[in-house]
Amino acid sequence: MSEQQDYTEPVPDRINHRLRADCESCFGLCCVALPFAASIDFAIDKAASHPCHNLLGDFRCGVHQNLRETGFRGCTVYDCFGAGQQVAQVTYRGQDWVQAPHTAKQMFEVFPIMRQLHELLWYLTEALELEQTRSLHAALRSARDETDRLTALSPEALLELDIAAHRAEVNVLLLQTSELVRAGVHRQQKGSRGRQKSYDRGADLVGARLKGADLRGAYLRGAYLIAADLSEANLGSADLIGADFRDANLSGADLTGSLFLTQFQINAAKGDASTQLPLTLSRPPHWTA
Ligand code: SF4
Repeated sequence: MSEQQDYTEPVPDRINHRLRADCESCFGLCCVALPFAASIDFAIDKAASHPCHNLLGDFRCGVHQNLRETGFRGCTVYDCFGAGQQVAQVTYRGQDWVQAPHTAKQMFEVFPIMRQLHELLWYLTEALELEQTRSLHAALRSARDETDRLTALSPEALLELDIAAHRAEVNVLLLQTSELVRAGVHRQQKGSRGRQKSYDRGADLVGARLKGADLRGAYLRGAYLIAADLSEANLGSADLIGADFRDANLSGADLTGSLFLTQFQINAAKGDASTQLPLTLSRPPHWTA
């Protein structure tokens, strides 16, 4: 679905390009496999495993230049972490579901599993790049290698995978990563009349007024930040895994050094040219200049 995204900024090699969506190498899997419910993000209801009516015969999107104007805003937000091209070119060796219709159902079931594996690879790769996690590097590398191995499994083996159990194992390491990084920030803040707030997992911060807030090292896992005003906030070293940024205002916010931020989250938010992003993420084309 991110076919319409025009990533004009260079992406450093430190994040494997394999974890970036390459729609040219995919079979339109997100446009078929996933279900939509008619909403502000999608103009239509669509059941899982049914092609979107805008999908063309060559797996391109017929309205990709006008997705937002035609009611498909959600398609400009979605990101598969490169799972689409992995399923298309590696798992199914370039044979698409039109040429080989007997593979279609299985391929559409494999895709969401692969997306979860690629998402974990994204987080583990990031955790391995951090100096603060040196004591965890052996365990992180092992988890990354194992996750990488799973991405190469056959379709049948992928469907039998206990993905929830694997996610839970990886999550232990990601939590330890978060604690190590945020502890360093908290030590620096100690004695400086820290204004640091603490939030529970999945905190309800819908519409919160956090303009200019010092959120360095904050625990914002799964936080609902929908339509929150985070303009000019500092989110350095904040754990943002799974945080819901839909329509959050990130104008002028500093997200460099934040933990576990994804393109999907950035695409869902609002921002501008003064929003500072990690080098691994791109400024969405729909943000204001
Ligand atoms: S509108 Fe385009 S990008 Fe969105 S699901 Fe349909 S074909 Fe895919």
